[in-house]
Amino acid sequence: MSAYEYETHDYDVVVVGAGGAGLRATLGMAEQGLRTACVTKVFPTRSHTVAAQGGIAASLSNMGPDHWQWHMYDTVKGSDWLGDTDAMEYLAREAPKAVYELEHYGVPFSRTEEGKIYQRPFGGHTTEFGEGPAVQRTCAAADRTGHAILHTLYGQSLKNNAEFYIEYFAIDLIMSDDGQCQGVVCWKLDDGTMHVFNAKMVVLATGGYGRAYFSATSAHTCTGDGGGMVARAGLALQDMEFVQFHPTGIYGSGCLITEGARGEGGYLTNSAGERFMERYAPQYKDLAPRDYVSRSMTMEIREGRGVGAEGDHIFLNLNHLPPEALAERLPGISESAKIFAGVDVTKEPIPVIPTVHYNMGGIPTNYWGEVLNPTKDDPTAVVPGLMAVGEAGCASVHGANRLGSNSLIDLVVFGRAAAIRAGKVVDAGAPSAEVNTNAVDKTFDRFDGLRNANGSIATADLRLEMQKTMQADAAVFRTSKTLAEGVEKMTAIAAKMDDLQVTDRSLVWNSDLMETLELDNLMPNALATIHGAEARKESRGAHAHEDFSERDDKNWRVHTVSRVEGTQVDLSYRPVVIDPLTTEDEGGISLKKIAPKARTF
Ligand SMILES: Cc1cc2nc3c(=O)[nH]c(=O)nc-3n(C[C@H](O)[C@H](O)[C@H](O)COP(=O)(O)OP(=O)(O)OC[C@H]3O[C@@H](n4cnc5c(N)ncnc54)[C@H](O)[C@@H]3O)c2cc1C
Repeated sequence: MSAYEYETHDYDVVVVGAGGAGLRATLGMAEQGLRTACVTKVFPTRSHTVAAQGGIAASLSNMGPDHWQWHMYDTVKGSDWLGDTDAMEYLAREAPKAVYELEHYGVPFSRTEEGKIYQRPFGGHTTEFGEGPAVQRTCAAADRTGHAILHTLYGQSLKNNAEFYIEYFAIDLIMSDDGQCQGVVCWKLDDGTMHVFNAKMVVLATGGYGRAYFSATSAHTCTGDGGGMVARAGLALQDMEFVQFHPTGIYGSGCLITEGARGEGGYLTNSAGERFMERYAPQYKDLAPRDYVSRSMTMEIREGRGVGAEGDHIFLNLNHLPPEALAERLPGISESAKIFAGVDVTKEPIPVIPTVHYNMGGIPTNYWGEVLNPTKDDPTAVVPGLMAVGEAGCASVHGANRLGSNSLIDLVVFGRAAAIRAGKVVDAGAPSAEVNTNAVDKTFDRFDGLRNANGSIATADLRLEMQKTMQADAAVFRTSKTLAEGVEKMTAIAAKMDDLQVTDRSLVWNSDLMETLELDNLMPNALATIHGAEARKESRGAHAHEDFSERDDKNWRVHTVSRVEGTQVDLSYRPVVIDPLTTEDEGGISLKKIAPKARTF
């Protein structure tokens, strides 16, 4: 007998998450007539995607010459040669199609004089395979691109009869004894009822885990729930040590100032008023990729050239730009700067600091979004019935460092790819497999244990300990010493999950319990991050190791595969996919062009 009664729902596909990735997948599934449910813990248009400002990358060539191969090259180089080449080719090739689809669905893009989609420059996006000037590749709806995309996709999903289960919290996957995903168990937050969704395909689109850190640009709901579910199912997480710090979070609040601000001509200065990026990246300056700019800013601060009373941040200058341009192209961030830093951007610089922004790592998938369960013999074995897309997944197109505006395009390209694939592998007429009730019972046992947790540490206190430790020991600069200490501290912190205290035992709007479930999800993500970082003895992309300052392709051009059980993390490695989808003869990129080389800007 199960500890809780539940209602059962039967679908062809259940998508968990209603951000850009979840909605694009939901829409694509529903358009093909698959019976599709989308389960989400927040109202769809409140998903973190709504906060995306700067834009979405695609080589449309609206503002000058561009080519999908240049986009692919930039993505390969941006990833510091850790991305999977087949997936990166798929992304760059499909990007224009995916953006035109968005346009036709009704996304209100900003326009050029001739009525084409407006595109702005973004860091790391160049021409001529990194030899030419910066390109204007990032399609934008002012500085509210994510907002525009999310609202459009939600409307289109409703139009196509996708069914939404809003404010349902997915607790765990239901896995059969032979490793097939059969559905997901959910808790309805507003009335306390329990629901089992039985489906032939589950798509995890639960977003990132920025909230494992103290200061993050992401929403408080970004707690890596998909990664937590996958870890508890005994499945793998990949490349978790690669965490992107955005150069320009507002000092103090962490609120994001889009890279589009530098794309529109903004620049950084230190305490001497120097435009220091000219020294670090002579060619692309303030538009070098994020890991590069964040590291340069951190160097300036460490070497005593930070600004402010404590010399611990940097200035972002926009006050030289015409006020009309700021009002037209960057209205949202002008408002944020006023509210969160008390700054009038037309007159003063904005105080900024590198802030946790994006998780390159996640649930490993192929470029169709199918989740992988890599083993030594078969590094690309697929988990039947399970997909992961968006920031929760790791396809891997961002490798060790994501380029700005490459996430929104990842959401729609791979959300779409997952739907295309599901159209082939899901047998819509067939009955669903009977759910494994043992797995359902196990989920309720864990839920009940946390609900009645009667230890001595409040969830919020343990979460803060984790966040401070991750911020101190797994940030922009990493040394053998800080990482080893971090592993030790995080192991002790994770062990305290057994001593949690939850004070509210109710089932209706119990935010204490929901945050406890979220902490239980953040913890394996955080553990995999710090263990993966400690083990990786090189510097690559966002993983800058002071004691191993060079990239080491011979030993470390491999994906980290981590399996987390309790406080234990088991690490192994799988090869990076080197071959593109098409050869040069077939119109693909030349292998010589994308061979690893030093990454300078
Ligand atoms: C401030 C900010 C600005 C950004 N700007 C840009 C930009 O300009 N360009 C760009 O390319 N990228 C940008 N990014 C990155 C990009 O926006 C994100 O990576 C992306 O939006 C993530 O989308 P997603 O669909 O994967 O997840 P999210 O949008 O985070 O959505 C996650 C969904 O999962 C649901 N969910 C999670 N857990 C559960 C659970 N247990 N049960 C049920 N539902 C659950 C949530 O309800 C939500 O609907 C930005 C990120 C931030 C934080």
